[in-house]
This record gives sequence, structure tokens and C-alpha cells, in this order.
Amino acid sequence: MSNLLPLINYDRLRMETDGEGVTTLVASMGCPLSCRYCINKPILTRNDLVRNVTPEELLEMVRIDDLYFQATGGGIVFGGGEPLLHAAFIRDFAEIMPKEWKLILETSLNVPEENLRLIMPYVDYYIADIKETDPETYLAYTGISGERAYNNLRLLAESGLAGKVRVRIPLIPDFNTPDDCTRSAERIREIGEFDKIELFSYIIREGTET
Ligand code: SF4
Repeated sequence: MSNLLPLINYDRLRMETDGEGVTTLVASMGCPLSCRYCINKPILTRNDLVRNVTPEELLEMVRIDDLYFQATGGGIVFGGGEPLLHAAFIRDFAEIMPKEWKLILETSLNVPEENLRLIMPYVDYYIADIKETDPETYLAYTGISGERAYNNLRLLAESGLAGKVRVRIPLIPDFNTPDDCTRSAERIREIGEFDKIELFSYIIREGTET
């Protein structure tokens, strides 16, 4: 029997938002973190929005944009929540999707190492939302330790995949400073040859991050 994905929604025809080309963002339920300014929190607590789909069902839903994906070098972005909670589903989907499509993951990397290892052979690009490299700040902002995220980032580097990773480091109001962000970027370059590190600011609207 196939794995099921607790699908929240999917967003078609995104233009160069998550790398090259036209993409469809597939958002799924569940996240191990509790980020203070999480914009997805209202949705992530709505079980009534979830529809469990098989890889074959998801493929039928997103196949409508096949020509766009192929013409622009785009594909499917798995986001969340935390898509790596559903690593076996993503592997099964990758096995049946057209090989010309790109597979992109938007992830905190804060999952068990075996989840990441399962999908590493299939992923074209990672958007790694690392947030902070200071352990205390990470814990204060997300509610859990960042150790797994740092270790998984190291695993990607040691596997020669640093070039496939865009690391995102936010300036988080009341939690870190621009100097902290610069320090985080330096620490990440010490972990591996990550040349795509994006520093940006959260814009807080009514208690959420964007
Ligand atoms: S990792 Fe993303 S989805 Fe999860 S709590 Fe943080 S902001 Fe929300």
C-alpha cells in the first residue's frame, strides 16, 4: 500500500519563486517546530483542511502543468509544515513523476537523519530554513533543539550536495540581530561549501512571519 500525504493545499504556476522555472508548491500537514512567528500556524491546526492522497493521486492533480515544468525547468516544491516528515511519500512520488521535472524541498532539516537520507537521491534543490545557528536562540524561537538541523546540513555538505542547497537565515525581531545573522552565515560556511546563503528579515504582521 502506498504512503499517504496529509495534503493541505497546492499552489500552481509559481514563477521562479523556489529556483528556476514554473513550480507547484505542495503543502502538507505537520511540523516538529513551533516558531513564534509561524505564518502557517492557523492552517497547521486545521485537520478539517487535510486530504490524504497517494503519490498517484497527487501526480494526477499536478500533472496539468507538465508542459510548463518541462519548458521552464520547473517542477514540484514540497513544503509545509515540514515535508521531510513525509519522506517515504516524497520518495514514492519521485519514483513515478516524470524525470524531467525538478524536485525541490523547502525544509527546516530538523528531522531524523534517516528521513533526509531516504530522499537525498531524488532532490534537485533544497531551500533550508535554518533560522539560527546559536543553539539557545534556536531553542527559544522554535521550541526545540536545532541539533538535528545542523547535523543534517553537515550530512548534505559531506555528501557533496552543498551546491544544491540555498540556506535561509532570517533576522527575527526580538530574537536575533544583524550581527547574529552574519555569524550564522559564517558558521554555515564552516560546516561546508554553501555558497547560496540568503539573509533576510521577517516582516511581522499580527504575530506571524513572512
Ligand atoms: S518551520 Fe515553518 S511551518 Fe514549522 S513552525 Fe516554523 S515557520 Fe511554521
